[in-house]
Amino acid sequence: MVGSAPQTLVMKFGGTSVGTPEAMAQTALIIQRQRALTPRLVVVTSALSGVTDLLLNSATAAALGETEVYNQTVQTLRNKHEAVLKALITDRARQDEVRGAITLLILDFANLCQAIGVLGEATSRALDAVASIGERMAVRLLAAVLDNNGVTAQFVEATRFIVTDDNFQSAHPDLAATQTATRAVLNTLLDQGIVPVVTGFIGATRNGVTTTLGRGGSDYTGALIGATLPSDEVWIWTDVDGVMTADPRIVKEATTIEELTYREVSELAYAGAKVLHPKTIRPVIEAGIGLRVLNTFNPDHAGTQLVSELPITDHHVVKSVTAIRGQSLITLEGRGMLGVPGVAARTFAAIANLGTSITLISQASSEQAICFAVPVTAAEAITSALQREFRFEFERKDIDRVWATGEVVIVTVVGEGMKSTPGVAGRIFSALGDKKINVIAIAQGSSEVSISFVLKSEDVRPAVQTLHDLVIKKDESK
Ligand code: ADP
Ligand code: ASP
Ligand code: MG
Repeated sequence: MVGSAPQTLVMKFGGTSVGTPEAMAQTALIIQRQRALTPRLVVVTSALSGVTDLLLNSATAAALGETEVYNQTVQTLRNKHEAVLKALITDRARQDEVRGAITLLILDFANLCQAIGVLGEATSRALDAVASIGERMAVRLLAAVLDNNGVTAQFVEATRFIVTDDNFQSAHPDLAATQTATRAVLNTLLDQGIVPVVTGFIGATRNGVTTTLGRGGSDYTGALIGATLPSDEVWIWTDVDGVMTADPRIVKEATTIEELTYREVSELAYAGAKVLHPKTIRPVIEAGIGLRVLNTFNPDHAGTQLVSELPITDHHVVKSVTAIRGQSLITLEGRGMLGVPGVAARTFAAIANLGTSITLISQASSEQAICFAVPVTAAEAITSALQREFRFEFERKDIDRVWATGEVVIVTVVGEGMKSTPGVAGRIFSALGDKKINVIAIAQGSSEVSISFVLKSEDVRPAVQTLHDLVIKKDESK
């Protein structure tokens, strides 16, 4: 197991850590062992892997009148949870109790989908109600499995204490209200030696309406609970050996990064490394508590430890490479643009009004253009909005055109050492140039911890692989 034992600890388990009977058994074992060492232990869990996608896809299909999709999902959800129930809960009465609770939640899901079908529309609020069901089923199952293994556990729905605004699908927590409520609910259980098993991902408004923190948001739940209790550490248990030099699904030689600064991991998370939700980092930094990423299926591996500072050595120059797919680069250009006040402000305000976040802003060499990346799904709406916003400037020919590329990717290279090492950008460009990979746009993070490139979609794998070779080359020169 990992290091010396913290006295108060939050352990978050992702979907793959609870997705099958074998995975859930492994998770229960990790919790059981840790409980013997840590007197105040909080567990946060995601829905079983694939469940959130199933729920959301069914709700979206219901809005289009496709009722057979959610009927099929009802069956899949039953089978998926039943498999764990049968394999890991021996007591028949307990099995029946949990099966009953899960059946009711699945019924809620079917009713919500039916209502969505009648309305012909799935609002963000309805989608959050649907999505929350995955985690609500998972906590009941995991708490019962723990009880079965002799760990006194109690499932808890985070709607009781993660207080958010009503920005459905990406709700923002009210930190003060959340802190008071979290302490009240969880300390009561911890004081009695009970392990709370908390739903990741979800919260509720002050009026009790269910919200979610955004896809992958269970990591954020873990961090919020850790920061508010506060715990000594937060451990994120996933299906790989910590944060790696690249996504191991793309680069098979990717290796674990033993230590990473908070700044580096923030850049990585924002630049698409799915292993950690980007919002996870801030609460733990502010609370000054430790954060680790560990592998449920290889629990003796030390994983990644996040730290505030690291001595900069040349070996740390390029530490990790990551990519965000499905982007479009939008350019607003015109020779008269320099004379028009507030073009950038108006551009970004128009986009913010559509509720879209900008993934990257490029430092265009010519000041006659503004260039930024957004999810490709939003590109058309954004170009139309900009055409409306600047209709007079178009008429006066101050702005010539606004256009969006087809699908592109953003590849980002991260490493604190880039700040103090001249020539890194040059090395990166030569490596891409050698492979005939064309760079469409560039942005350097203001913190100089990262450099991002916009590339054609088909270049993502060769680019990530090529840039990853730079990480390996540095390591070999140690
Ligand atoms: P969980 O269900 O545990 O939250 P996720 O699927 O959200 O797991 O995140 C883990 C996945 O993140 C890994 O399986 C891996 O494919 C992907 N990933 C992407 N970039 C990285 C990286 N730099 N290091 C580790 N994993 C990464
Ligand atoms: N279950 C949610 C999702 O799939 C939250 C999470 O896994 O962190 O997005
Ligand atoms: Mg995740």
